Amino acid sequence: MTDRPVRTRIAPSPTGMMHIGTARVALFNWLYARHTGGQFLLRIEDTDRERSTEAAVQVIFDGLSWLGLEPDEAPVFQFARAERHRAVVDEMLARGAAYRDYMTPEELEAEREVARAEGRVIRSPWRDLSPNDAPDRPFVVRLKAPLDGETLVDDQVKGEIRFENRTLDDLILLRTDGTPTYNLAVVVDDHDMGITHVIRGDDHLNNAARQTLIYQGLGWEVPVWAHLPMINGPDGKKLSKRHGSQAVSEFDDMGYLPEAMRNYLAKLGWGHGDDEIFSDAQAISWFDIKDVVSAPARLDWDKLNHLNN
Ligand code: GLU
Repeated sequence: MTDRPVRTRIAPSPTGMMHIGTARVALFNWLYARHTGGQFLLRIEDTDRERSTEAAVQVIFDGLSWLGLEPDEAPVFQFARAERHRAVVDEMLARGAAYRDYMTPEELEAEREVARAEGRVIRSPWRDLSPNDAPDRPFVVRLKAPLDGETLVDDQVKGEIRFENRTLDDLILLRTDGTPTYNLAVVVDDHDMGITHVIRGDDHLNNAARQTLIYQGLGWEVPVWAHLPMINGPDGKKLSKRHGSQAVSEFDDMGYLPEAMRNYLAKLGWGHGDDEIFSDAQAISWFDIKDVVSAPARLDWDKLNHLNN
């Protein structure tokens, strides 16, 4: 738990349409920020230079604006922060929380084989070698994670999840070309943006353990985690094209009202008793992450039509 003022965020990658799942994550973050008198922020995770486009950034801005979920501050662009990410890695190296790993691709492959045969995760010999022995060849920087004990992710939706540290390998923080990895960038950005609550899809649950280790390596306060279950189709199976619209812009084109959409999205995994229709003020006053159900939500288009009429 934290006693800092609440700051939530969404961190979409601008690589295509704004998906209904992103819209729901945005709504829950926005509701929680409003409920607690906190702030809701936006970070554009544009580090994948090949797939990120300006048009997709605009789609996110337009989608949030149509939904009425305006961020409280100017958006942060992740790619522009790479120097800061590298500076934090230098700090970790200086603290002994990270190390340079000079394993060659062949050595890594050999270690992978042995680790597989022994049923353990890979361990670089460079974990415990002094930098004075450093060869003149490319390296990655890895987190020096604890070898035993466990990492607890105390999740507001999923409950307490324990990860045995011996099952987590030393995460790469910087690649051989010096680019920061996803987990590092997320931690540094969330910390610098003062994010207190990370509310996102449960496809990131495993990352929460890894990110916790990075926070600990830096001596930073770990945010409160809340991982939202997937949205499934009406048949309870993974959402797919055949279930119909999934892009926020399509709902706008089809004439759905933003209020109906907010009401509908709020009910995907959360609710207030049997209430079908509620105002924003009611949703804000009732919403709590702890009441989000941990089972996957199901789409039900009839309900959306009903709310829109
Ligand atoms: N950029 C990530 C995604 O689009 C989100 C990361 C996060 O919320 O921590 O899945």
